[in-house]
Amino acid sequence: MSALSIELRHLPEEGLHREGKLPVAVLDLSSDDPVRPISPVIYSLDIQKDEDELVAIGTVSADFELECGRCCQRFPFRLEIPDFVLEVPIENEAMIDLTEPLREDILLSLPSYPRCEDGNITPRKCPAEGKFEPENTPSIEAPPPSKAGTWDALDQLN
Ligand SMILES: [Zn+2]
Repeated sequence: MSALSIELRHLPEEGLHREGKLPVAVLDLSSDDPVRPISPVIYSLDIQKDEDELVAIGTVSADFELECGRCCQRFPFRLEIPDFVLEVPIENEAMIDLTEPLREDILLSLPSYPRCEDGNITPRKCPAEGKFEPENTPSIEAPPPSKAGTWDALDQLN
């Protein structure tokens, strides 16, 4: 039974508050993963039953090490979700463990194309920035816009 297992029978009408830390292992990331957790997941959640859903609202944060998609260097990144909302449908179960849905939401909240200059722990400039930017590639002269389109439009007005 995890810290976020909610026994529905014992859930008070007004809900309950749970806060604490989840160990890194909960995120179940392998060492080959480009995403590496470097801190426990800190959560503070108000949990309440809303008709056929269990709703958890609060804040979640954790530190990760991500790989910059541009320079391929690792950089620390703090994920902070100040308005975290989790909704889990209640079927017939007596207990709902919010750990797995929480884990999924955290991983989905991480940037899909991380850039090291977006790192919010140690600000830096991506060393590879600009190297592959379109403005640095020789620009190909764009052909002048064709007049045909204009004439067609005028024809249609007639
Ligand atoms: Zn970078």
